[in-house]
Amino acid sequence: MGASKKAIERASKFAARYRIDKPGKFRLKEWDADDTMDLGKEAKGRAAELLQAGVDHLAALQEKLYAQDRWGVLLVFQAMDAAGKDGTIKHVMSGINPQGCQVHSFKSPSAEELDHDFLWRTNCRLPERGRIGIFNRSYYEEVLVVRVHPEFLERQKLPPKLVTKKVWDERYEDINAYERYLARNGFVIRKFFLNVSKEEQKKRFLERLENPAKNWKFSLADAQERGFWTDYMAAYDEMIRATSTPHAPWYVVPANNKWFTRLVVAAAVIDALEELDLAFPKVDEDKRGELAAARKALTAGK
Ligand code: ATP
Ligand code: MG
Repeated sequence: MGASKKAIERASKFAARYRIDKPGKFRLKEWDADDTMDLGKEAKGRAAELLQAGVDHLAALQEKLYAQDRWGVLLVFQAMDAAGKDGTIKHVMSGINPQGCQVHSFKSPSAEELDHDFLWRTNCRLPERGRIGIFNRSYYEEVLVVRVHPEFLERQKLPPKLVTKKVWDERYEDINAYERYLARNGFVIRKFFLNVSKEEQKKRFLERLENPAKNWKFSLADAQERGFWTDYMAAYDEMIRATSTPHAPWYVVPANNKWFTRLVVAAAVIDALEELDLAFPKVDEDKRGELAAARKALTAGK
């Protein structure tokens, strides 16, 4: 077994450790944002090399996914600001053929989007078969930011009698049903919560303020959201418990060390693709005949 294959297998074990397989027992406060599985300095030094091995492997799997054109993959990223969503997406998907990958970032909804049901705008952006679709934020904002700021729910113009205390439980139920529907249609879903600590977020915000090259990333609104940290954590906690399912599991990825976050996400995506029966389409008798004829015509021609 090659060194890189071994590294990938080891990385897969990291990923399994952060997958929420027993949602009933999940408590966010028990999950350490600093965790690096005691890999320490040595692994950190080799992180780039390990990640590259993962990215190469991922690229090879994605080529088959694309050629086979049966399965589709949806990767959902949720996190507090500055947890590293953008960097993780950039690094993990860096080896992938851009034609086989679609990234969508979901911001505050437009007037048109608010005129529809809450899954409408993301539904329009689902990946096609053969592709990897990435949601940078997603319909999960509907049980996160919208829950933390009830005025956002008001803006959604739901008939008042439909908005009861059960609204969040109903949304979890609808999301689970929707994801099961997608899974039954051949769309593999993996969801990542990048778990950054409040302290580390502060450090990263300060860096954005101090480093001119990072100034553009700083937003006062993001800093103000820190004031709602406890509410967000409660919303994440409940959401992960309610929506981790075998067909669409959440991964709670430690995000205080970017090198580790990227390794875990890469490994989880590799795992998901490895579970599929990916293979290049077989060339049948007719097609072989066609290829032979084409070769003959090409070599005979000028
Ligand atoms: P970055 O800050 O790295 O550029 P971002 O994903 O934080 O990326 P922003 O434009 O800063 O992008 O933020 C998007 C904002 O839109 C977030 O605060 C998010 O909570 C909010 N948002 C996303 N979906 C909804 C929704 N359905 N309802 C209300 N707000 C939403
Ligand atoms: Mg932001």
